[in-house]
Amino acid sequence: MTAPIVRFAPSPTGKLHVGNVRTALMNVLFAQSQGGTFVLRIDDTDVERSTAEYEQGIRDDLTWLGVSWGKTFKQSERFDMYDEARDKLIAAGLLYPCYETSDELDRQRKLQRVAGKPPIYNRAALDLTAEQKSAYEAEGRTPHWRFKLSGGTVTWTDLVRGEQSIDMSSLSDPVLIRGDGSYLYTLPSVVDDIEAQITHVIRGEDHVTNSGAQIEIFRALSDHCPEFAHTPLLVGADGKSLSKRIGSLSMGELRQQGIEPMAIASLLCKIGTSDAVEIRTSLQDLGKEFSFSKVGRAPARFDEKDLISLNAKLLHDTPYADVKDRVPGDEPFWNIVRANIEKISDVDEWAEIVLKPMSGTIAEDDKDFCEAAANFLPDSVTAETWSALIAHLKETTSRKGKTLFMPLRLALTGQQHGPSMDDMLHLLGAEKAQARLRGEVA
Ligand code: GLU
Repeated sequence: MTAPIVRFAPSPTGKLHVGNVRTALMNVLFAQSQGGTFVLRIDDTDVERSTAEYEQGIRDDLTWLGVSWGKTFKQSERFDMYDEARDKLIAAGLLYPCYETSDELDRQRKLQRVAGKPPIYNRAALDLTAEQKSAYEAEGRTPHWRFKLSGGTVTWTDLVRGEQSIDMSSLSDPVLIRGDGSYLYTLPSVVDDIEAQITHVIRGEDHVTNSGAQIEIFRALSDHCPEFAHTPLLVGADGKSLSKRIGSLSMGELRQQGIEPMAIASLLCKIGTSDAVEIRTSLQDLGKEFSFSKVGRAPARFDEKDLISLNAKLLHDTPYADVKDRVPGDEPFWNIVRANIEKISDVDEWAEIVLKPMSGTIAEDDKDFCEAAANFLPDSVTAETWSALIAHLKETTSRKGKTLFMPLRLALTGQQHGPSMDDMLHLLGAEKAQARLRGEVA
């Protein structure tokens, strides 16, 4: 196989979210696994809804995720090419002007439904005479343009879905150009895929039917037709569509919540596949394990809880060098607290406890006990001090189990949970620990 060329083609009409990022990553990983090229195409033919901010946001989010592209371009800069393709299709009799208003089309569909027929466009526009067209235009109507489907069967072997067959006679001729002259994404996408010699179109399965029509457009315009891989859509943990919650699942939101890029990438690339959902620390590692043969046909379940636990796992093994610009404290501090955080911002709480002056909590009944602990502590603590302290207190008091260590943990940290106390004691140092055990701010 020649090295693949793939593309991710978001419209800059919104933010990148877990759904379209999954599509982006599938493209990236496939390209990586085959030594191919990843192209970023910005589908901004809808000039009304596309914005420069969203476009920049897409590029920033992809970069944050660790994705880079070999080539990038915007559709809004290529209208000449689309016009040329349009003229070619018109000359071939495959693109025809239609003058129905959307109300008229609605009415037609209703009548078809009442008559028990499928709501397929009736191709009345194909029979219009030149006079009728002029009359419509004189009325002020501007045509929209439909692609004339073959009415035959389009088949392809989908890399995820296997053998696909679409009966084109069951579909309406798709509108390629709106009444205002603007292009829907269908034709520009094919023109760009031909020009960039895209070898594999990898996208969500909501595009399966489009692929039928686009394959016919590819054939009408060139000898080039890519392979297709349609990946199942994401659903929530409850099996329901994510569409209503997708705004809160944007990269910006997740980033703000403290989710690391590789937690997102690992989850999105492993759910819905035969691989276990586990953390990977680089896109390269995910790429080495990627294969379409592992991608299942059932919807992939996206559960935010998994995102948090993968995030925690990732941080637990992250070396200090990778986070030193983002966390307070030094390497020993990071190495001890990292096992107790889910998000990097959780470090701040431990920094408050370890690095800033504070006092813990000591119950009335525990005062003498904590005082005895303070008195026992040597001037400098080592890794063994905690176990020596516990052994001493066990011997000299009647306490055991939780009543033995919890008052100490509370006095030293104010928390019921946290890093192991031998580590904590070591981090705090003798002076701070003694003062806190005596109820002082230190
Ligand atoms: N802009 C289209 C979309 O976001 C691209 C679809 C495709 O990958 O061909 O749905």
